[in-house]
Formats: sequence, C-alpha cells, structure tokens
Amino acid sequence: MKYEADLHTHTLASTHAYSTILENCRASARKGIKMIAMTDHAPMEPDSPHIWHIENLNVLPDKIEGVRVLKGVEANICNVDGKLDISERVLNRLEWVIASFHSPVYWTDSVEELYNTYKKVCQNTYVDLIGHPTTASVDYDAEELAKLFKEYDKLVELNEASLVSGRTKRNKLIDLIKACKKYETFVAVDSDAHFCDRIGDVSNVEKLINELDFPKKLIVNNDYEKIKERLLKKRPWIEL
Ligand SMILES: [Zn+2]
Ligand SMILES: [Zn+2]
Repeated sequence: MKYEADLHTHTLASTHAYSTILENCRASARKGIKMIAMTDHAPMEPDSPHIWHIENLNVLPDKIEGVRVLKGVEANICNVDGKLDISERVLNRLEWVIASFHSPVYWTDSVEELYNTYKKVCQNTYVDLIGHPTTASVDYDAEELAKLFKEYDKLVELNEASLVSGRTKRNKLIDLIKACKKYETFVAVDSDAHFCDRIGDVSNVEKLINELDFPKKLIVNNDYEKIKERLLKKRPWIEL
C-alpha cells in the first residue's frame, strides 16, 4: 500500500534524530510522499529543542521540495490530568498535534490511571493523534482504548519505529489493530522517522495490518484527499 502522508517525523532539532527538514522533504519527494508532519519533541523531553523552535515554525513555507510540511509537535502527556507541555497559545497556531506518553516525563503502571489520563487527553481539542499508545508498559484493555479514541474522534497511531526498536510489543500492536478494526477507530500508520531515509517506511506495521485484514478505509494517511478533508474539517484556514 502507498502512504501519501507520514504524520510523525523528527528533525535533528530533537537531538536523537539526524536529518534536517530539507533532507526529510527531499527524501519524501523521492519516495512520492506528498505530506509530512514535522513533529519534534515538546520541551519536557530531555532531547527537545528550545520552545522557540516550535513557536517559530511558521517561518517555513507550506511546501518544501513540493512536499507539504505540517507544522506540528509531539507533545508530552505530563500528568493524570492529561496536561501537555505546550501552551494553548502555541497549540493554537500549529497544524498537527501528537500527544504521547514518554517515560522521562510521565509514566504510569496503573491501567485505570492510563485510561483516565487518555480520557483527559481526548478532551483536548487541539490533539489530533494519540502517539504510539502501544509503548505503555501496562496491560491495558485495547478495546476500551479503541472505543475511547473513537468516541472523541482521535486518531490512533500504529507506529513503525517503536515496533522496530522493541518499545512496542508485537502482541500489543496486534491487539490494538484488532480493537480498532472492531470499533472502526481511525488510525494513522506512521514511521516516527529519526532519519530521512526512514520516512514512509512502515513495512513492519503494514505486514501486521495485512495479516489482520485491517480495513484500508480506516487508515487516514494512505490518501492525500482523505487526510486533507480531515485537516480542513478542524482547521479550515490552513492551506493544503
Ligand atoms: Zn514518541
Ligand atoms: Zn516521535
């Protein structure tokens, strides 16, 4: 399957990543990817750029090397109230917001707390995508989460980099894919690339999707028009 958008990518501004935005866009153009979300880490992660990096994204053109660059962030979920480490003033000017759990910032070993935190995150209208929920260390109920994300119309991420690195366990991802299929929860299949050549490479996740016969219509980033419609519904002022 072809993925026309990759909605989770890093530049070297997150210091454990290694490519510039120009290199990311050149690699994307070469692969026929029409859109990437530039989603460097928000301030609470130890490797994050200065907040000005996020605040100043509007100096970038909409398209680089013909690739539409969504100005985004991978925000950190900071506590059980679902607080993010980006102010509303900054969130308001971004085009794409991922909310992720990262252990250096906040982590929980309680299934109930994880669910309650995600519920609060879901109530944040700025959040577009729940980043790699499969990296949670607890044995959550995938069906409960899929239902929750569906109820609040949040996209669920099936994340390649965390699967390859082992931070996402294969069985957890399988359970989540099955649950999203059952409840018709929309997903994004993303590389979470930390080097330009990895953008659009989601081959390991795709293998599971195919094995589990996951419906293509529930994947939002396999078609530019589909993601465009979703983006414009929420932020009608952005140029696509
Ligand atoms: Zn992450
Ligand atoms: Zn990431």
